[in-house]
Amino acid sequence: MRAVDLAVQHEWNLEREPERHKATAHFATRTIRTPPIHGDLELAVFVHEGGHLESPMGDRDRIDNELLAWRWEMKMLGFRWSGAMQHEMEACLRTYQPLRIKTYQDLQLMEAVFAEGAEQAGPARSETMNRTAIGGNGQRTYVRRTAHD
Ligand SMILES: [Zn+2]
Repeated sequence: MRAVDLAVQHEWNLEREPERHKATAHFATRTIRTPPIHGDLELAVFVHEGGHLESPMGDRDRIDNELLAWRWEMKMLGFRWSGAMQHEMEACLRTYQPLRIKTYQDLQLMEAVFAEGAEQAGPARSETMNRTAIGGNGQRTYVRRTAHD
């Protein structure tokens, strides 16, 4: 799954974002500003922004919208969704506590998305395994796991 293929498929315009960990989506022009995509973290944030463009609600003040965008991403990436991406999602969503996750129901919705993502990432793609997979020579071993629908 290449970022550029997703962009072509969904007719997103792309702009380069100089800041390394910042990505934004602009609805009116369907433009995603993204830093260069070198790995799972940048890809996770990039596709998440795409999720904002493609998910139905436009109100970014609602946590639901964030959850929808991540859900959309998981669906798009399928088996490519990784432990590193899961970790990134959890970190991003936790920044909304307590400002936008106000009720117990909000918390439950968020936990449900975490569980969904963890299940999809699978044990073989957990953060620990990914870190272990980076060998002494600095080469990342890519372990492709079996997709489960
Ligand atoms: Zn978002």
